[in-house]
Amino acid sequence: MKKQFAVIGLGRFGFSVAKTLANFDFEVLAIDSSEQRTQEASNIVTHVVQADSTDEEALRALGLRNFDVVVVAIGQDIQASILTTIIVKEIGVPKVVVKAQNELHGKVLKKVGADKVIYPERDMGMRVAHHLVSSNIIDYIELSDDYSIVEIAATHALIGKNLRQLDIRAKYGCNVMAVKNGDKMNIAPHAEDLIQEGDVLVVVGKNTDLQHFEVTFAE
Ligand code: ATP
Repeated sequence: MKKQFAVIGLGRFGFSVAKTLANFDFEVLAIDSSEQRTQEASNIVTHVVQADSTDEEALRALGLRNFDVVVVAIGQDIQASILTTIIVKEIGVPKVVVKAQNELHGKVLKKVGADKVIYPERDMGMRVAHHLVSSNIIDYIELSDDYSIVEIAATHALIGKNLRQLDIRAKYGCNVMAVKNGDKMNIAPHAEDLIQEGDVLVVVGKNTDLQHFEVTFAE
């Protein structure tokens, strides 16, 4: 059966999550306390309900227990975000993803049971900064506070060299996990494999080491 999603809080972020899931043809229940916000979402997602998510009875009555994933996208009202997270977890939703305003908010959310805490502004800011350092950075995925994966399009400094010559592991402490080119994916690159024009390197490492690597091979 298809996963059931609910999104609580239809600000710019929650709305975008709900709309994208709906575009993927998932059924989405969107909840917001504002009449205007619920009206705006009504022709985009399957079910829209105007309710205060800090009202446990209201959430239970909506059958939230049966949802696989609930996204709590209330930003400004930190108290409402925390209370909602506690209630949704108590109801028994297996995966609760919550948007945090700041690190402290995020820590509290973890403590009260959020399965995943996201910081959209911080993460997007990081992505943009990485793109600015090197326009060859295609994507940037944070694995933990200290480790990430970057996808970097091969630059002139990389093309025509093999992994042995580049000695990325020893020199930069990073690991080239895979090399993509169009639809082709080499998930076990050999030391002798030449990096070609159009290749995208998927590199894992410590953030500081990755930064060193990115800056060195920026052009
Ligand atoms: P964004 O940056 O995504 O636009 P935001 O972080 O500024 O959003 P808010 O605008 O504070 O977040 O909240 C997002 C939505 O959550 C709003 O539409 C607001 O009406 C709704 N909301 C706030 N509190 C509650 C609540 N207790 N129950 C339901 N919805 C709520």
